[in-house]
Formats: sequence, structure tokens, C-alpha cells
Amino acid sequence: MNFAMVGRKLDRAVLGSVLLAAYAVAVFAANFGDQRTPLALMWLATPISVLIPVWIALQIARSDAFAPPTRRFWRHLAVVAALAGLGSVCNTVDAIGGPAPSQELSPLTVAVYGSAVLTLLWALWRLPMGTTSADERLRIGLDASTVLVAAAVFMWHFQTEPLLASNGYRIATLAVAGFTLVLELVAVFVIVKVALSGHAFVARGALRLFALGMFAGAFSGVAQRFILDQPHLSLPQVSVPLVLVCATVGARRQQRALVEPEAHRAASRRPFSVLPYLAVAAIDVLLLASIADGSSDLAVTAVAAVVLTGLVVWRQVTAFRENTALMQRLDFNATHDALTQLPNRALFNQRLTAVLGRGGAPRPVSVALVDLDDFKLVNDTLGHRAGDALLVAVSARLAASVRPGDLVARLGGDEFVVLLDAIDPAEAGPVAQRMVAALAEPVLADGHELLVRASIGIADGRTGDDPGELLRLADIAMYAAKHDGGSGYRRYEPGMAGAVAGSAALGAQLRQAIFGGELFLEYQPIVTLDDGRLRGVEALVRWNHPARGPVPPAEFIPVAERTGLVVPLGEWVLREACRQLAAWIAEFGPRAPGVVHVNVSARQLAVAAFTDTVATALSDFGVPPHRLTVEITESAAVSLGPAVARLEELRRLGVRVSLDDFGTDQSSLTLLRDLPVDELKLDRSFVQRDESGRRGIMPAAVLALARAVGLDIVAEGVELQSQADRLAAMGYRTAQGYHFARPMAPAGIDGLIIEGAPAPAAPLGA
Ligand code: C2E
Ligand code: CA
Ligand code: CA
Repeated sequence: MNFAMVGRKLDRAVLGSVLLAAYAVAVFAANFGDQRTPLALMWLATPISVLIPVWIALQIARSDAFAPPTRRFWRHLAVVAALAGLGSVCNTVDAIGGPAPSQELSPLTVAVYGSAVLTLLWALWRLPMGTTSADERLRIGLDASTVLVAAAVFMWHFQTEPLLASNGYRIATLAVAGFTLVLELVAVFVIVKVALSGHAFVARGALRLFALGMFAGAFSGVAQRFILDQPHLSLPQVSVPLVLVCATVGARRQQRALVEPEAHRAASRRPFSVLPYLAVAAIDVLLLASIADGSSDLAVTAVAAVVLTGLVVWRQVTAFRENTALMQRLDFNATHDALTQLPNRALFNQRLTAVLGRGGAPRPVSVALVDLDDFKLVNDTLGHRAGDALLVAVSARLAASVRPGDLVARLGGDEFVVLLDAIDPAEAGPVAQRMVAALAEPVLADGHELLVRASIGIADGRTGDDPGELLRLADIAMYAAKHDGGSGYRRYEPGMAGAVAGSAALGAQLRQAIFGGELFLEYQPIVTLDDGRLRGVEALVRWNHPARGPVPPAEFIPVAERTGLVVPLGEWVLREACRQLAAWIAEFGPRAPGVVHVNVSARQLAVAAFTDTVATALSDFGVPPHRLTVEITESAAVSLGPAVARLEELRRLGVRVSLDDFGTDQSSLTLLRDLPVDELKLDRSFVQRDESGRRGIMPAAVLALARAVGLDIVAEGVELQSQADRLAAMGYRTAQGYHFARPMAPAGIDGLIIEGAPAPAAPLGA
């Protein structure tokens, strides 16, 4: 349904309702004093005016553009309007069916009108409220009660009491009066409750109109006393059409809410909050008026005034309590981290300063700084939900592993700190060890099982020390722990700063190196064991540091991994290796190396775009995918879920995957089955250790395993002819090592290709 149609229907429906109501009011006015119109014409508008809101409400109830609670509400409203129409038909029969016009309602009419009101109350009651705290609900209840008591007194004063006084205290009159009163009170209560709380599902304009309509309808009975002497007049003749105008306009508001979304709701979340004060003011006025004219029910009004004052005071006390709680909450928020609920940096600094500033004999104080190693990676690859869950889990584990009374705080990001007050320096180590152990267990975060690695730095001080300095030393120790490769702790010791600063400086220079062309690649041949033919090459990155000369990768790759620089570095290596292989293929055709191996670190694999990077490099240089092998270490492959997905993508692309340094991890053998790999590289420690005789079983076992699961296998680090012979005898076909060739510049590989085969290198050290 489009906007124009809504606009046109709105006109006709509302116009129809208004005309019917105007007719009813005009006829009512024309007959005031004396009857001039036939009774049937005076009652005509009432049942007809019901049809319009019933029709619109059913439209809303059937439209799936609205939420289920909204549709349910309007379905109920259609029933309400229909019952009101039925009631007015009964009412008409009561009025004109007897020998003389009558205002009396038959029990049937009361029952039908009553069920209309009850259905409306039910509809309002079923509306979801959207209130939050128990305090807020209490306040709404108190506000509603205030209005309710005031309304009750007014109804008593103007309606029930005069009715009883004029009709005498007959059982029937009492019953009708009591029933009406209760109904009206319940109506007021529900309306006020809905008006005071949120209304997420019904257009605000519509609810206001219902409130207005219910009030008008419920209290129109007050006016009945003025026409008691004119039996041809009856209030429902006008009140029902008028209330139904409200219903029609309200229903239109609801339909329009879809087209013109309501203005910002939060702006006036509690539109009726002045209601209780108005109620008290009204009762006070009534009380004064009653005193002035010596009314008989002065006592009732006075008691009501007292009750209302009590309710308003109660409400204020609640609001006050809520404000106090809010203040405490604000205070807590200012000193605690919202995610983990741990004390934050501000509170930690405050506590540390207080502990160090304590007088008396000097006492030891230690500070342990905890930093997660791969947190950014988790956040970037698995999303913030997983990151948040990880932080919460880590904070719980830290809190569980310290001594009672130690303060665990979150400094921000993935940095935590523990204040170890009055701790024997010898005891700080075990506490740190407990933390490391607690964090070593895999964490289940947002459905991912994660291995957390944390670096912990401890600085030992004593009361009187400077808090900032103690934290700085803990920071240096933490970086030293990270430098060790993470998942461990270090105590601060003099001289540490220099080493750490060196590593930080290296990071800055490495950035320069990647983008400034200080890196280059060497290639180490991978050969067949029996005849030494060149099968492929492994690309190994080199850094020609402008001041220090060549820096070994063992020194700068860990720095690159810590800083994330390994991602651009790895991309450069990948593209350079592809470029070089393409050049060899162009120059030597079938004699070119069959495959180039590129080392890839876990952090690269965790980047979702890595597969695209690889595909682009291959296509940019025209390298067939099967001539690229990606070498990963097993810990990289298993520590993070997404890495496995990346490997699967790469293999779908046609790229080969090789598991580097195989056998150094305890879990290797069992994991092999599940990892998407094509090749194993037997770690050089097994090749070299087999000289001692006893561990010689490992190469044979790994070979058998590789054959069983159908993987290729390369033996690494072959330095001696004897090692090559032994491997060949076991059944190994392919190997790599100084015995065959050292890593060399591309020109060296050119030479090998031209010669036809690499000559065994000179013995080590020559
Ligand atoms: P890796 O992947 O295990 O590479 C083999 C390392 O063993 C190379 O050291 C190589 O020179 C050395 N090697 C080869 N044959 C022998 C031998 O017979 N005996 C001995 N003792 N060593 C041998 P390199 O070039 O210093 O590389 C060290 C590590 O640095 C590599 O270990 C690899 O993990 C990492 N790396 C090197 N280049 C890259 C790269 O481009 N990206 C990444 N992410 N890591 C790289
Ligand atoms: Ca490698
Ligand atoms: Ca290796």
C-alpha cells in the first residue's frame, strides 16, 4: 500500500467517523430539554460508527508489515469495537424497546459493554512494556496508583455517591455502581500503566487517542446525573460515536507509522510523568471545594489527599534511591572496566600509589604486567565477539590464579596488571607461573577454541618506590618475555632495557627495510637424494641492514611476527619468489626448478585476504598454482581455526601446502590426519640426531606415516653424506641441506641449472 492510498483512505474513514459523531451530538443537542426526534434516529449513529474502526483494525491485524504483538493488539481492538457496537444495539433495544424511553441498562447490555472494556484492557495489558529496572516498574506502579486513587475519589464524589443518594441504596444500584466503579478504575490503571511505560509496538499517537477515548468513555458516566430527568436522552448516544472517532484516528495513526516512522522515541519516554502531580493538585482543589460547601463526603476526600501525598512521597523516595544507585553505578563505571568488570587503570593507579606510599618499615610490592600475544589477531580474524569473550575468560583465569587480596586490573586492550602487595619476591615467580599455566588451557570464545599466549613481566619493588617507575620496569620485563617468544614470564633485571630497546628499534628499521628495498631472497635447492637433481627451491628472506650488514631471519622474523610487519614482508617475499620462478621458467623452460617453496607465518594465514594475495601473485607473474608450495609450521596451522580454512582455500586454488619442521611438536602425529597438507618436512633435528643412534627411529616412523596418509616428504638439514645415505636407505627420496647446497642468490641457481646438477657442497666449515 502506498502513501497516497493511505492518505485517501484516511480522509474517508476519519471523515465518516466524524460525521457520524457530529450527527449524534447534533441530534442529542436538538433533543435536550424536550424530545423532538424519534428515538430510533437518536440511536442511529451508535451501531453504524462501529463499522469503520473494525474495518481498519482488521486491515492492520492482517498486514504482515507489522510486528506480531502489534497485529495481535489490533485484532483485539477489532473485537473491542465490534463488542461496543453490539452493546450499543442492546442499549438501543433497552432504551426504545420498553413502554416508555428508558436510561436503564439491561444486565445483557452491561455485560456486553463490560466485555468490550475488558477486552480492551486485555489488549493493553498484553502489550509488551519495555521497562527495564524493578525500580522503574515500582515508580510506574506508584504513579499509576496516584492517578487511580484520585480518579476513584472523583468518581465517588461525582458519580457513585449521587447515584446512590438519588436511587437509594438498592442492591441492584449498588451492584451496577460498584461494577462501573471497578471497571473504570481498572481502565484508568491499565491506561496509565501503558502511558507511563514504553510502548514499542503501538504508535504513540494511537495509544494517546485510546487513553483519551477510554477516559472520556469511562467518565462520561459523570455527566449522566445532568440528564436523569430526560429519559429519552442517553449518554451512549454520543459517547460511543465520539470514542469511536478516537479509535478510527488512532488506527490511521498506526497505519501511517509505517510510512512516516515515528519521531525519535527516546525524546519523551515518559510523556505522562506530570500526571501524578496533576492528580494530587486536583484532589487538593476538590478538598478545598468540599470544605467550602460543607460536602458530606469531606472525610473521603481528606483521606484521599493524605493517601496521595503519601504515594507521591514514596515515589520521590524511590526516585532518590534510584538516583543514588545510579551515582554508585557511575562511580563503579568510572573505576571499572565495562567488559570484564575488573578495576581499570585509574583505580589500579590509585591503589598502587596508596600501597607504595604507605609509611612504616619498607615492605615488598611487586607488579605483574600481562599482555596477550595474539589478541589483535583474534579480534581481526574471528571478530570482536570472540575477542571480547576471550578477554572475559582471561580476566576470570587471572583472578583465579592470584592470591586472595591481590588486585587484578585491566589497563586497556589486551593488557592486564596484577598488584602483588607484601609479596615475598620468591613467591612472585610461582604466582606468575600459575597465571601462565591458567592461561595455557584452551579458551572457548564465541564457539572457537583458542590457545592464548600471554607474556608476563614482573617488577619487584618496595614501599616508597615510584609507581610510574615500577610499571615501566614491569613493561620492560614484559617486552623481554615477549621477545623470548611469548607464553612465559620474566622478572625485571638491570640491562634488560637495552635488549628490549634494541628489538623495538629493529621493528622500526624493519618497516623501513620492507618498503625501502633492503630485503632480498636467497634460494636453497631441494634435491632428489639418489642423483642430486634439482627438484625445487626454498625462498629464504635476507635483510641487508644498512648499518649492521646482514641480519639473520631468526632475529628479525620474530620481530616481524610480533609487530604484524610479517604480513607486508610475506607478501613481498611471495611476489618476489613468483617473479623469480617465472623468470627461470622463461629462461630455462623444463630445466627450471619445478616448484618454489615460500615460508608463511601464522599471522599471514589469519588474514582473510591471504588467498587472494596468493592468487594475484600467481596470475600477475603467470605461475601455475601447483608450482608454488606454501610452508607453514604446525603450531601455526593448528593454533587458530581460520588458518585451517585458509589452507583449504589455497589447496582448492591448486597451491601445495607443506608442514615445516615436522615432528618438533608433541601433537604432530595425531593432528596430521585433520590438516589439509600435501607434504611434510622432517625437522632437521631428527636428521642430525640420528648420529647418536637411539633417536634414529623418528625418520623411519615419520616416513611410514607419510606413506600411510599419502603425503610427500622432504628431509631437512642434511649436512653429511652419511645422513644422506641413511635417509636414502630408509626410503627417503627428497632432501635439503648444506650437504647439497646452501641458500644462494638466484644467479647461483642459474649456475646449477646450467651445470645440470648441484655438486655436493664442501664439508661444513670449509
Ligand atoms: P626454515 O623454514 O626451517 O628454513 C630452513 C633454515 O635452515 C634456513 O635458515 C636454512 O638456511 C637453514 N638450513 C638449510 N640447510 C641447513 C643445514 O643443512 N644445516 C643447518 N643447520 N641449517 C640449514 P634461515 O635462512 O636462517 O631461515 C631461518 C628461518 O627463518 C626459516 O626456517 C624460516 O622459519 C624463517 N624464514 C626464512 N625466510 C622466511 C620468509 O620469507 N618468511 C617467513 N615467514 N619466515 C622465513
Ligand atoms: Ca621453511
Ligand atoms: Ca624447516
